[in-house]
Amino acid sequence: MMANIDEINEINTLLKSGSNEVAFEKMLKVLRNSPPADELATVSLMMMPFDLSSAFQAAELALQDDPNNNRGMNAYAEALARKGQFDEAERWFLKSMPNLKTSERIRWSEPTSCPTCGLDRGDIVDIRNLHRVHTQASLPDPIRVWVRCKNCKLVRVRDRLTSESVAMYNQNPGLPVNDPPDLKREFYRAFMREEGWCERVKEAAGKIGRLLEVGPGWGVFMAAAEFNGFNVTGLEVNERSATWIRENLNLKVIMGQAPDDLPDDLFDVVASFEVIEHCQNPDLFLAGLAARVAPGGVLALSTPFIDHPVARSHGYENPMWNEVDHKVYYDRSTMAAALKRVGFSVVDQWSSDRHIGCVAVIAQREE
Ligand SMILES: [Zn+2]
Repeated sequence: MMANIDEINEINTLLKSGSNEVAFEKMLKVLRNSPPADELATVSLMMMPFDLSSAFQAAELALQDDPNNNRGMNAYAEALARKGQFDEAERWFLKSMPNLKTSERIRWSEPTSCPTCGLDRGDIVDIRNLHRVHTQASLPDPIRVWVRCKNCKLVRVRDRLTSESVAMYNQNPGLPVNDPPDLKREFYRAFMREEGWCERVKEAAGKIGRLLEVGPGWGVFMAAAEFNGFNVTGLEVNERSATWIRENLNLKVIMGQAPDDLPDDLFDVVASFEVIEHCQNPDLFLAGLAARVAPGGVLALSTPFIDHPVARSHGYENPMWNEVDHKVYYDRSTMAAALKRVGFSVVDQWSSDRHIGCVAVIAQREE
């Protein structure tokens, strides 16, 4: 019997929690049951986050033992990716997945061009084998390539899943389902954090008025804003969240998506937190939001910034690269440029613990 990915993950968890002895015992058991190339590849993958150069050597040895060993090729690809040799990593990732034929990739994913300037050229900034990351997920196209547009520098997924593959993935996502928060504990902590956000939004807007939140999730910010005097409305695409907010928080939520279903009214604050990175056309989304901001009002956004020191310190381990539903990432300059295109400029900005490297930005219409 060969070592499976669950066993590898179990050992990884043990190593991370410092239970090295138990991990070592488990590792030996795995190795005894595997052919040599698999053993080496397994060790390579396990060592990867801890000791890249040893992991790389183990992957090379696995391929010396058996050049066609799939796990060996996979370990080699991941080591290359961690070293920043993305083009070569991509070739090896594809080679390591014999079931993922080029024709299948074309069927399950579609190439994207830059949503901002339409260019299709970009430099690879990260590559993933999402099958390895989301071990239980049934991803039809497990390769995720992130590129930075050669022109405007926006980072986007190069080949996004087709709607058919997204539907397939959603049937069996293998990821923890996002449940409503525990009202007494998590919700209250988040509520206190977001009351702080309200303060800064209030300061920038210069008043407490009408507030629209696009994608309120479980409504924590909406509740905090309402408690601080704002007249709040939510626009939410997820029926379960919308119902939960109405029933538990007694707040107004419209079902729908931006920009198509935005209400016609103007708002003193239009807020949208961790939504823009999910948009296939973020410029259209931003333009829709900007058009709903009343004169003198503000736009409040948050999204993971890839130039955030915390995101950068995570490097290859930054879980943002593994997010199946994320399509674009901003940094300080691409966000400022995107806001400028809709006539807004940043007036306040702060870091948030909602996501790794997450930054909240408040923008006002340029005079
Ligand atoms: Zn571009």
